[in-house]
Amino acid sequence: MKMTLKKKPNVNKSPLPLQLIDLKRQYLEYKKEIDTQIQGVINNSFFIMGPQVKQLEEQLAQYVGVKFAVGCSSGTDALLLALMSYAIQEGDEIITTPLTFISTGEVIAFLKAKPVFVDVNPETYLIDQKKIEKAITSKTRGIIAVDLYGQCANYDEINAIVHKYNLFVIEDAAQSFGAEYKSQRACSLADIACTSFFPAKPLGCYGDGGMIFTNDEEKANIMRSLRIHGMGKDKFDNVRIGLNARLDTLQAAVLLAKFKHLPKEIKLRNKVANYYNRHLNKKMITPKILNNNLSVFAQYCIRVPDRNALQKHLHDHDIPTAIHYPIPLHLQKAFSYLGHQSGDFPNAEKICLDILALPMHPFLKQSEQNFIIDTINSFYSA
Ligand SMILES: *Cc1c(COP(=O)(O)O)cnc(C)c1O
Repeated sequence: MKMTLKKKPNVNKSPLPLQLIDLKRQYLEYKKEIDTQIQGVINNSFFIMGPQVKQLEEQLAQYVGVKFAVGCSSGTDALLLALMSYAIQEGDEIITTPLTFISTGEVIAFLKAKPVFVDVNPETYLIDQKKIEKAITSKTRGIIAVDLYGQCANYDEINAIVHKYNLFVIEDAAQSFGAEYKSQRACSLADIACTSFFPAKPLGCYGDGGMIFTNDEEKANIMRSLRIHGMGKDKFDNVRIGLNARLDTLQAAVLLAKFKHLPKEIKLRNKVANYYNRHLNKKMITPKILNNNLSVFAQYCIRVPDRNALQKHLHDHDIPTAIHYPIPLHLQKAFSYLGHQSGDFPNAEKICLDILALPMHPFLKQSEQNFIIDTINSFYSA
């Protein structure tokens, strides 16, 4: 007797499971190239400072438009190595934004220097360059500007201030690799730029990784030495106190495979962002990208009334979200010794209370975006 297979009823399923950043989907797209790269490293077994590291440094330096690139172990270590190359020490002051990931302030404090915060612009969420000059003292050595959520800070103005006072600027480009500012690429906009290859960043590897960019050959050489125990001429010649902060060959190989697809991914990220911008309800604030900027949307963040309730509502519909950042740096316990209070940097504080990051990655389907948008819009029209 022939079995009759009953067709399953066609349930109207939401397009789940959604990911904030879908790395699995990305891997499946590039599986062959990534697997080949990884296998290549294992075949050669040149795991530390293998040829892929140099190859990646050359490709990325050319892409961003600077002379030197130094691969390292993370975005945090990139920032640390950059500050170390300026011999930052106790008593020095470094100006930065309170609206960033902990690393930006942490590396300053780690070297016993003092993070001096300057509030952000309420529309772009970037460090407010108009407030920088007031924060400069005789102890100020430099500024770390952050390209928040994938949008570059205002480097023309920041660099002008820096030259006037003979300081340096470090670009924290952990979220902005591939972004553009006045037709120049992120990672080429300051004296030294630092990016991160943490998996969720616009160009991510399969673990921790980072890179430093500069046109200053002397600084590049110092940082190359610092990342390998302050190495001099060879392995057992140590000329300064350094770190073990190298980029793994395996991570460089993964990045070589993924980097080829970055330009296409940046276009797709902007397409996803524009679709959100057009279809989200007008009760929320969508990202403001300045005229001369191309963002890579490391995060797509909206500002909304009743943020925590909306986040719960989305969670109940299996839509993942994130808060970048729930606490500004000046109110973090780790920085309590600086003696800041609520109200010191009101723009950053307000943003921390109503910001919400939505799913954002190049492979987000329009049907999935529609589901996210409808779920958000219906929350506010109910
Ligand atoms: C991710 C990030 C870092 C740190 O990068 P890691 O590779 O995780 O160490 C630093 N600054 C900003 C703004 C970041 O988003």
